[in-house]
Formats: sequence, structure tokens, C-alpha cells
Amino acid sequence: MPITFNMDAGNQDTSDTVKLNPDVVIIGGGPAGLTAAIYNSRSGLNVLMIEKLAAGGQIFITSEVENYPGIDLISGPELSIAMENQAKKFGTRIEYDEVDKVEDGPGEFKTVHTVSGKQYKTYVVVISTGAKYKNIGVPGEELFRGKGVSNCATCDGAFYKNLEVAVIGGGETAVEEGEYLTRFASKVHIVHRRERLRASVSAQEKAMKNPKINFIFDSVLEEIAGVSGVDRIRISNLKTGVKSDLPVKGVFVFIGLVPNTSFLKGYVDMDEQGYVKTDASMNTSRAGVFACGDCIAKDLRQVVTAAGDGAVASYSAQHYIDRIKGQEYI
Ligand code: NAP
Repeated sequence: MPITFNMDAGNQDTSDTVKLNPDVVIIGGGPAGLTAAIYNSRSGLNVLMIEKLAAGGQIFITSEVENYPGIDLISGPELSIAMENQAKKFGTRIEYDEVDKVEDGPGEFKTVHTVSGKQYKTYVVVISTGAKYKNIGVPGEELFRGKGVSNCATCDGAFYKNLEVAVIGGGETAVEEGEYLTRFASKVHIVHRRERLRASVSAQEKAMKNPKINFIFDSVLEEIAGVSGVDRIRISNLKTGVKSDLPVKGVFVFIGLVPNTSFLKGYVDMDEQGYVKTDASMNTSRAGVFACGDCIAKDLRQVVTAAGDGAVASYSAQHYIDRIKGQEYI
């Protein structure tokens, strides 16, 4: 079957059937992808970003960011919109679609396929698909999703004014978002499976001082129960074996992330958890495919590291394209 390419993205191909395609396709519009977009657009490349939902990725659903250098405190949505506007200002085009396949060819190009049936031919692909929140897999979690079970304090916190809620997890997200929920809830129970938190000391100290936060350590969630919405959760103490019920109306599950990389299986090398392996220049195992941000295998996942990765990926992408065109400046 002949390949037909989407015609409305820009590039230099002049054949009748394959033209007006981008130099760079960036998959995913979080801080990593948006930074790559800002840098590559600003340097004159034709950049198309394909984003599934809303630019900003996980920071779009993060209440506050207070560790991005130079910015004292900013809401996640505000920072997302600022980055998106900056990318657009330099010429990045954003398509709202979902990529389901990337393949080599034709020739030196890559082809990016989307679920809506579009195909884009591009010199370079930058993968910045980020990660999504893990489910905990207990009874009631799926039944009450949207009716008391949530992964987004910014989106759903206001529904719990003067009500008790539980947060599951002991990482940075659980502690920071738990703290944010105290603006609305009368009590926030943070349930963690160990006797101490994984979150940073600064986040812990702030939360420990908050009288609305109650830490429940060495405990796991066993069940979420209710009638039309969540009414209680059952937790079990791992040390004593004692099970108890907590009367909460909301359960916020923040137990870590899974990378959004399943569509790339077999195309680029990944670790056992599905994070894409890169070198320090953000090269993946596939020439012309770069990856950055939360979807890559690394130790620290922050907005600032995502942005840094994105800048490096854009630099490598630029050199790769110049090399193909025989105009690399070394
Ligand atoms: P995380 O650091 O992986 O923490 C996940 C937490 O959930 C851990 O405490 C873990 O317990 C617990 N957990 C995992 N599976 C569980 C299960 N089945 N049942 C109960 N508890 C479970 O995830 P995160 O907090 O979402 O953070 C993800 C990344 O984003 C991290 O790199 C973090 O530093 C970063 N982040 C940064 C900021 C910031 O800088 N402002 C904000 C948010 C997130 P164990 O500790 O026992 O493993």
C-alpha cells in the first residue's frame, strides 16, 4: 500500500506525494518536549509537537512548583502555559493526537503514525512522552475512579472542602500534593508502607508541621469502599497485622510512575521498567531518535532535569539533521 503523508506540516520535500513535513517531530508536550521545541524552533527548524491531551504533561496537573530556578513559586498549569506559549512564539506547531508507531524510512527519514491515521515524515524524532501515575490495584480503585479516587489534587482537591481524604504513597508527589490538599480537606491521612518517607527533607518538614496532616506509617491500602462514592478505606499495618477502617471521602493515589513508552517497544532499547535508555547526548539505540524527560532511564525526575534533557536532545537533533544535510559545523 503506498504511503501517504500528512501535507500540512512544513518541510522541504518537494515530491508530489511527500512534502511539507517537519524537520523534527517531538512526541509529548511536557517540560522536556517543550524545551526541545523552544530550542529547535528558535534555531530555525520546522518543529511539530504531537501531544495527546494538554501541553505541560505532569506539571499541568501539579499544584505548585517551587524548585524551578529563578521562579519562587508558580502553579503547574501556569508554568505549562508559559512554556507552551514560548514554544509557539518560536514557531512550534502543536497537533493534539496520539502517536502509536514510529518506524525508519523512507530513506533517511522516520515516519511517525498517529491513532487518527496521520503520518509524518521527519528527519528526527524526539521522544518526550513522560510517565503516568501507577494504579495500586486494590478492590474499589477502578469502581470509584472519578467518584472519590483520583491521581490529581489540583483537579479534584476542591471537591473535598471540610472532608477527610487519604493520600497513598510516601514520595515527593504524595507529600507535596497531600500538603496542597489541606487547603480544602479537614484532614489528610498520608498512608505509607514504610516507617519513613521517601520524599525530600524539605517537603517532609513542611508536611510534618501541618496540623491537618496525619501520617500513618508501615501501612498499606487494602480496599476502597462506599455506596455511591468513597466512604472509607481499609488499611493494614504491616508490622502488627492490625486492619482498620478510615472514614474518608477521597483517596489520592501517588505511588510512582510508569513510562508512556509501550508504543516504542522493539524500536528503541528500554530498561526492564520500560524507561528508554539514552546516552548523555540523549541518543537512543536508534539513530535519529532522541529521548528526554521522565520517560528515560535516570535517577532524578524533576521539571528542571526534564528541561535540561530537552535542551540536550534538541542540540543532538540539530547536529543529526545538519549531518544528514552535509552542513554540520564541527
Ligand atoms: P516515587 O518517588 O516513585 O514514590 C512513590 C512512593 O509510593 C514511594 O514512597 C513508594 O514506597 C510508594 N509505593 C510504590 N508502590 C506502592 C504500592 N504498591 N503500595 C504502596 N505504596 C507504594 O514517585 P513520586 O512521588 O510520584 O515521584 C516521581 C518522581 O518525580 C520522583 O523522581 C520525584 O522526585 C519527582 N517529583 C519531584 C517533585 C518536585 O521536585 N517538586 C514533585 C513531585 C515528584 P517506597 O518508598 O517504599 O518505595
